[in-house]
Amino acid sequence: MEKSRPRILVTNDDGIHAPGIYALYEAMKEIGDPYVVAPDSERSAVGHAITLSDPLRVWEFERNGHFFGWAVNGTPADCVKLGVKAILNFQPDLVVSGINQGPNTALNVIYSGTVSAATEGTIMGIPSIAFSLTSFRRDDFSVATRFAKQLARTVLKHGLPPGTLLNVNIPALPASEIKGIRITRQGRGRYEEYFEKRTDPMNRVYYWLSGTKLFLDTEDDVDEVAISQHYISITPLQFDLTDYKMLEELKNWEIEF
Ligand code: MN
Repeated sequence: MEKSRPRILVTNDDGIHAPGIYALYEAMKEIGDPYVVAPDSERSAVGHAITLSDPLRVWEFERNGHFFGWAVNGTPADCVKLGVKAILNFQPDLVVSGINQGPNTALNVIYSGTVSAATEGTIMGIPSIAFSLTSFRRDDFSVATRFAKQLARTVLKHGLPPGTLLNVNIPALPASEIKGIRITRQGRGRYEEYFEKRTDPMNRVYYWLSGTKLFLDTEDDVDEVAISQHYISITPLQFDLTDYKMLEELKNWEIEF
């Protein structure tokens, strides 16, 4: 009997119009049947937010005159939940999120809608991968899509342990300049942040978050170090945030009630 093609839920946080999701969809078409459920506009840096106090609405979205997927007025995590439970009505074999424009490494992972979509897939028991191209400008997704295809195939074959997703960052470089793949851990790099205070045409003050990136790691096995050395970075992530070492220590604190 012919083995059925894997069914793959494709989403992102840059929105259903973004070039990265189109590239990922095209790549997934070569290894299975992709189904796109994605935010109707950019929802970067919304983390794992879900929508509870507003209705979620769904539109059929066309690209180049053909049905492309479902656009949702919600977050990336909403798209995965709604996609599986209400739009597809089946459990896909894989969730892929991206290809994000810009890195999702180090502390960015906490804020990332791209990663959170994959996290949601994992919570729902589906092997899930987040893909990011480490540039906000470069729109050549050819290296990233080639790799996404390879890794998606591998994950479909091996599966992933419950509670674990893969966070993948691909250097925004031509294939010839990429040195290989590195399995990494999440770095500690973050932003030194400040708010720019400005005045609008109505003379009202407003603020805009800005900052300078701080690189705090030097070890080769850290996500953003690997990227800076021109390696594709694959980080296995989990969402159990418990600090097990502190858990043991807290038991000795004799905290009184
Ligand atoms: Mn994004």
